Amino acid sequence: MKKEAYLFETLGEGKVACHTCQRRCVIPEGKRGWCRTRVNEGGKLYSLIYGEVSSLSINPIEKKPVFHFYPGSRWVSLGSVGCNFRCPGCQNWDIAHWKEDPMYTEYLSPERLVAHTKAMRSLGISWTFNEPALWFEYTLDGARLAKAQGIYTNYVTNGFISRDAFDMIAPCLDVYRVDIKGFSDETYQKIGHIDEFKGILEITRRAKESGMHVEVVTNVTPGFNDDEKELHGIASWIKNSLGPEVPWHVTRFYPHLDLSHLPPTPFETLQKAWSIGKEEGLLYVYLGNVPGHKLENTYCHNCGELLIERYIFEVMKNRIKEGRCPKCEALIPGRFY
Ligand SMILES: [Zn+2]
Repeated sequence: MKKEAYLFETLGEGKVACHTCQRRCVIPEGKRGWCRTRVNEGGKLYSLIYGEVSSLSINPIEKKPVFHFYPGSRWVSLGSVGCNFRCPGCQNWDIAHWKEDPMYTEYLSPERLVAHTKAMRSLGISWTFNEPALWFEYTLDGARLAKAQGIYTNYVTNGFISRDAFDMIAPCLDVYRVDIKGFSDETYQKIGHIDEFKGILEITRRAKESGMHVEVVTNVTPGFNDDEKELHGIASWIKNSLGPEVPWHVTRFYPHLDLSHLPPTPFETLQKAWSIGKEEGLLYVYLGNVPGHKLENTYCHNCGELLIERYIFEVMKNRIKEGRCPKCEALIPGRFY
């Protein structure tokens, strides 16, 4: 449904500035923002997707992927339509690259979402599939209600949310699963059609400083972000700005959409990315989209003991006891039962 936006500024001549994401679109009357989900009507900005759900499922949190926050827990995952990026190899292009009506969504109020989460005995709610920042009004209302009822909340995001929006939702977000897609403005221009990426890093650092559980994903894509300099840049930034304990997932790209002509990420490239993460001093680097690989498992950073065995998104075995390694008793970063 349509709802007045929470963050906009009235300018002259009927124009408004949207302050939801870092694009900060200036939108003339009758027009939509870059993401197409926000419209200026009569000098006011409205979200067109409040509560409009394109997809909802219940998954283990590993699917996001998040590996250090109550492993194996089930979460309600939902998304709407639209994005503020246009990644040429988007896995969810059918909803993310939505441009105009019809929407093919169903309305779900924040109250019903929270009730559904409780009824399904899910630990939390993940806003995912498309960019949750564009769904700001709904995710904020939902997150506030969820927190009041002891339900955890997670943003699966490209990190391009504005600081104003982030600061509003931060007190009721527990997990921030962010993509760092590259480490140069050039890469971000190719992938996200944005001029600069430093704002993404700033908000991510803010998420960590405000006490959220943060995990980072880089989908390693041949010819886009797979050179060593770029991967070193990401890994060393995570270590120095977020902390060595923050998990980094380097995931395999599969040919898709405008990048159908590319090969899947060669296994050696993923292995190289993993080694770069370890060289830079990250304690937990994971491979993703390589089912059955041992680097999907969690090993103690202190003694190397196998702690969590995974197969695809399932936790097969979890040996962590009260947050500690059973062998050397090192405290494992994250939240565990
Ligand atoms: Zn250990």
